Amino acid sequence: METKRITVKCGVDTCNFYENNYCYANSIEVNPQGTDKSRTSDETQCTTFIPGK
Ligand code: SF4
Repeated sequence: METKRITVKCGVDTCNFYENNYCYANSIEVNPQGTDKSRTSDETQCTTFIPGK
């Protein structure tokens, strides 16, 4: 199966995968935050985040 690759710009500079405003994780997972049905970007979160910086 073909793998879809995208560039992820990120401003979470305390994440282990963050470098110079970009994400360097092999893949990321984003899920709803505080709701089952997100309607705004505030209602999403990067689940792949791990502290590292
Ligand atoms: S894993 Fe998520 S929080 Fe961490 S750098 Fe990538 S997009 Fe940002």
